[in-house]
Amino acid sequence: MHFDVITLFPEMFSAIKDEGVIARSIKKSLLSINTWQLRDFSDNKHRNIDDAPYGGGAGMVMQVKPIRDCINKIKQNNPKTKVIYLSPQGKKLSHNLAKELSALDSLTLLCGRYEGVDERVIEHDVDMEISIGDYVISGGELGAMVLIDAVSRQIPGVLGNQDSLNDSFANGLLDYPHYTRPEVINDQVVPEILLSGHQANIDAWRQDQSIQNTQKKRKDLIKK
Ligand code: SAM
Repeated sequence: MHFDVITLFPEMFSAIKDEGVIARSIKKSLLSINTWQLRDFSDNKHRNIDDAPYGGGAGMVMQVKPIRDCINKIKQNNPKTKVIYLSPQGKKLSHNLAKELSALDSLTLLCGRYEGVDERVIEHDVDMEISIGDYVISGGELGAMVLIDAVSRQIPGVLGNQDSLNDSFANGLLDYPHYTRPEVINDQVVPEILLSGHQANIDAWRQDQSIQNTQKKRKDLIKK
């Protein structure tokens, strides 16, 4: 899967391009991420891409032309890419949405800053707005990285094993509890069943724990 990211801070993406699961998947050619510096599409010598809002008020607004020119440039090579604007006003990112998006070949992620983008970009150039939660952060970059990570985990081969099948939300429930060495620490003991070697019993226990965990922490998921 290919991601194009439009941003004023391309360097931030080294956080996922250089480390961990995403970096390994890039090396394996399962993923590619191309960042686009929006200031390269400015038409003035100061490389400005924002201006004061019509109607007055606080903050600056990202202008239509540099964003539109950048999206059009991306679409020259990749006409079918789906353009997503990271926005607190968007559809909330969930496991199901991440899975849905993982079936696509290419996404273009537009990262806002300041007061956000001129509304005409959303009307004309954006296919979908996605939010990472009901709060406002200072820029779309962290949201884009969350989205890239959540979507990429759903792509076969990215995790290299079957573990994501038991991850929270994958089957509508939260994950079961995990333990590792040592068996005892400060009187806290690993549940005996996990040491039994009886895989069918272990699987049944984990399924039961998964249900109990969900009931305790996220009753709303059980209702669904
Ligand atoms: N004035 C905007 C509003 O209240 O809807 C918020 C602008 S915010 C300071 C700047 C940028 O951060 C946004 O354009 C968006 O790209 C990003 N952003 C902020 N909160 C977000 C969220 N919950 N999910 C995704 N992106 C977010």
